[in-house]
Amino acid sequence: MSETKTKESTYKPTSPNSKLDFASLWEYSEAPESSANLEIKDKYELFIGGKFVKPSKDRYFKSLSPSTEKEITQFAEATQKDVDKAVKAARKAFKGEWSDLKPSSRAKYIYRIARMLQERAREFAIAESIDGGKPIRESRDVDIPLAAAYFFYYAGWADKLEYAFPGKKPKPVGVCGQIIPWNFPLLMLAWKIAPALACGNTVVLKPAETTSLTAMMFAELVKDAGLPDGVVNIVTGAGQTGAEIVNHKDIDKIAFTGSTNVGKIIQKSLAGTDKKYTLELGGKGALILFEDAPIDQAVEGIINAIYFNQGHVCCAGSRLLVQENIADKVIMKLKDRLETLIVGDPLDKNTDIGAINSKEQFDRVNSYLELGVEEGAEVYQSKCSVPESGYYIRPTLFTNVSQSNRVVQEEIFGPVLTVQTFRTADEAIEKANNTPFGLAGGVWTDKGSKIFKVGKALRSGVVWANTYNKFDPTSPFGGYKESGVGREGGLHGLSAYLNLK
Ligand code: NAP
Ligand code: MG
Repeated sequence: MSETKTKESTYKPTSPNSKLDFASLWEYSEAPESSANLEIKDKYELFIGGKFVKPSKDRYFKSLSPSTEKEITQFAEATQKDVDKAVKAARKAFKGEWSDLKPSSRAKYIYRIARMLQERAREFAIAESIDGGKPIRESRDVDIPLAAAYFFYYAGWADKLEYAFPGKKPKPVGVCGQIIPWNFPLLMLAWKIAPALACGNTVVLKPAETTSLTAMMFAELVKDAGLPDGVVNIVTGAGQTGAEIVNHKDIDKIAFTGSTNVGKIIQKSLAGTDKKYTLELGGKGALILFEDAPIDQAVEGIINAIYFNQGHVCCAGSRLLVQENIADKVIMKLKDRLETLIVGDPLDKNTDIGAINSKEQFDRVNSYLELGVEEGAEVYQSKCSVPESGYYIRPTLFTNVSQSNRVVQEEIFGPVLTVQTFRTADEAIEKANNTPFGLAGGVWTDKGSKIFKVGKALRSGVVWANTYNKFDPTSPFGGYKESGVGREGGLHGLSAYLNLK
């Protein structure tokens, strides 16, 4: 456990009756989740052809816990030669045992993976929090159960593909290269691997450099589940390893989740090839709050929309658009609620906001905090104590911002909410749509008719009404504009892994 600063809180409640000075008046006892039973190896090899193998150049990179800044393990760095070996293993498995299997037998393997994930859920949750910095409450209650749910859901489709696409003869695409980001490591792996296997493909997956631990634990699980060798291959490494996957000639499909910048590089590399691809990229989700909404529930929804997972969420609601006549009241309530959020040790069950994923991201979010001030925004940060070591940022609000500000237009990917006002629904829609992104949005109102009007007008892959950040394997997810190409989840997610003739 990292030590916390015990400095007295200087918070002055903003509302006259508020007693919400949690930091100095309400002491919480620590409630750490024990990591005693989690065995983290000193070093992880590559998982190729059903075996753990050394990287060709025998190079490893360090992986830190962002909550302590201490090294937790080392991962192998896969070179072009290693990626080639993984693709060959995946091709051999695709042509061999895996494609000869009856779809119902394929389903059994995927169900087995889902059940084993449930059995090992606690280990995976603790590893995810240590490696990536997210609060144990979230990894335990959201990331891991949802990852298992995606495997269960897609296992169910494995022998029903012809019913999913009536009149078509669905065929697997072949070898899939999959590259995932660091914000939901195991969940993004599940979004990629579950539908690919259900459709009869084989995969080569690269986790993000800062969060490869649960992917390597998943490799161990795949081995224990007895999957035929080479069906799942996991190669660790930096961006260059990802590029080797994208550019490999014997890959049939690329599935990428990550930043818009890297998405554009990948799209350029794939242009002119016959590889299929899906790109799940960045976002700058708008939360539209109308005067007729139940305000207290909306405030809870907004807190969840932006501060969940330290704001490292592609679909985070990072721009609040609030109707002008209730803006003061909403901002006051938001500030009061911010003061009750506990920032600290990800393994403590009380923690609401854990550590920022890496030093790089910590610096990036801090540079946006400075930029906001330069652009003339008013900044409000909660006064809570934060641990002395580790990468922590207090939940932040920017008011007095305008549509053209970079903090309103660009994805910050941290616990930072901008607040703007609007008078009419049309103005809210105009402002909500006015960014390069189109991944997600939210509407809070008492009127069903407004939900339909605004929801339809938002150029967003997902629109939540009177709630936010709700995920379900049956529901497609993906973006418009610079938020990406293609959909994952549900039937749409299956079609991305099939040739449909
Ligand atoms: P990133 O820098 O784009 O990295 C994503 C993955 O791509 C990582 O595994 C990364 O490896 C790898 N990579 C980097 N350069 C590459 C290249 N030239 N070719 C191939 N692969 C390359 O994104 P991130 O910072 O990890 O993740 C945050 C971003 O992901 C945010 O923009 C967020 O909005 C987006 N995201 C989108 C969704 C969605 O569904 N739309 C979901 C989650 C996150 P390294 O880790 O080694 O750099
Ligand atoms: Mg890490």
